[in-house]
Amino acid sequence: MRWSESCIPTLKENPREAEIPSHILMLRAGLIKKLTSGVYSFLPLGLRVLRKVEKIIREEMNKTGAQEVLMPILHPIDIYKESGRIATFGPELFKLSDSNERLFALGPTHEEVITMIARDDMRSYRDLPQCLYQVLTKFRDEIRPRYGVIRAREFIMKDAYSFHANEESLDVTYRKMGDAYRRIIERCELDYRVVEAESGYIGGNESHEFMVLADNGEDKILSCECGYSVNLEKAVVEIIEKNTKKPDAGEIIEVNTPDVTTVEEVAKFLGVDRKEIVKTLLYRVGKRDIAVLVPGDREVNETKLVNLYEGEEIRFLEADEIKELTGGPQGFSGPVGLPGGVKIIADNLIGNFSEMIIGANKADTHFKSAVAGRDFEIDSFENLALAREGDKCPQCGKSLFVTNGIEVGHIFKLGTKYSKSMNAGFLDTDGKSKHFIMGCYGFGVSRMVAAVIEQNYDKSGIIWPRELSPFDIIILPVNSQDSEMIKIAERFTKELEEKGMEVLLDDRDLSPGVKFKDSELIGIPLRLTIGKKLKEGKVELFHRSTFEVDEIPLEEATGKIMESFTIKR
Ligand SMILES: [Zn+2]
Repeated sequence: MRWSESCIPTLKENPREAEIPSHILMLRAGLIKKLTSGVYSFLPLGLRVLRKVEKIIREEMNKTGAQEVLMPILHPIDIYKESGRIATFGPELFKLSDSNERLFALGPTHEEVITMIARDDMRSYRDLPQCLYQVLTKFRDEIRPRYGVIRAREFIMKDAYSFHANEESLDVTYRKMGDAYRRIIERCELDYRVVEAESGYIGGNESHEFMVLADNGEDKILSCECGYSVNLEKAVVEIIEKNTKKPDAGEIIEVNTPDVTTVEEVAKFLGVDRKEIVKTLLYRVGKRDIAVLVPGDREVNETKLVNLYEGEEIRFLEADEIKELTGGPQGFSGPVGLPGGVKIIADNLIGNFSEMIIGANKADTHFKSAVAGRDFEIDSFENLALAREGDKCPQCGKSLFVTNGIEVGHIFKLGTKYSKSMNAGFLDTDGKSKHFIMGCYGFGVSRMVAAVIEQNYDKSGIIWPRELSPFDIIILPVNSQDSEMIKIAERFTKELEEKGMEVLLDDRDLSPGVKFKDSELIGIPLRLTIGKKLKEGKVELFHRSTFEVDEIPLEEATGKIMESFTIKR
């Protein structure tokens, strides 16, 4: 392909709207173009990469025996009412109405649609198992679209769904899908982790995320030397030592703590460690109020709290609501003397406190030596504290460390979540009607392009892995006015294309400096430079990843290029 006839609008400057390398480079290399917030066009160069990612995904999906389908983007809203997901999905579901005022949604994923297909067309155990997949544009009304195609409102995803007669059959497909995802990421030459994850709004019993490691990744992964990895949101803080200390026989003591509201301030004022204080956080869940207790040095894992009250709206109480409920100002809340209807939920770590320092629901006042079960009652214990670096590995006990990642794949064991709510089943061997056991498996295709760049760039631009590069080689005649150079460049283009290589010929009438910079920016692994060495009968083969240059006699060039091409493959 000739660059002079292509739409590859490279930019010299970093666009102001972009914050992270992949977003900056996708715009600068002319891969994508923004239409509006979180909505992008893929230009020719970007589309070539996207198609290569799709090709790898299709090949690996087909190897597992999954069958490709294509489902609609436009969904009647009723199907989300049927599954109950309209509540859990909330405002992120894109809604629109037709001219008859019937409500529709733009598909965020396709559990409902595929379950309807299975309900009608998989009637017997003999029809099972089946796994169907598609590669399709998806929609999510992100509150804060950012990082280009990483968190977009319109994006391309591969989603697969499997239907089974029993758990064992689901286990087999779940494993196969996980293996396929590993191969996809390995073919893209990326460093990654498979981590235990929360199922979130998709729901279900077990799920794993495939995280491409990247400094700018939005997801936090806790890992251990032993190989254990978990999403920070999913991680459970291990209780290392059981507290055997008996509480002091003394009574609960009221202490004056003027103008200290934060845990740090209270700890400093009382001369104790933050760990000895218990934070009380007040939330409104639906129409009732709850108090959540966590150790003073821990934060609440909001994801776990949301999952605990699945489908209900949760928010912090406002200062005036706190005053009304507890009688005290914000910053001095505690579990003693709360109205009867307020459930007190404690993190499991609270079970380790024989006595605690808590807010007294009164201005400038805390309690010391408060004892659960004596001074107040805890209604239930849950895992609600957010894990952090330095926490102990549940497998080996060593310290966990945090790495950032970009989630490119997520697989779920859904069980009967959708088949039950949508009443989809089959006749089993015993002649009884049963609900399908389901799995679902998502892979972010457009996001993967960005994830690849996050791991493969330098100050000059992108460095594409061999299998994803938009072209195999760029041929660069230094002077487009020099007919001899152009003739040789065109000869190489033809010859290499005939040998099956994808060639970009930079025949633009621009300064050599601009052309070199552009070729490094768009990151094609090999560059054949036809320049002043031509007088000596030589051309230069430049390797993008190492910046190494081989001078090669003209007649040996094709052979040498094919060698570099095949070795790297
Ligand atoms: Zn470990």
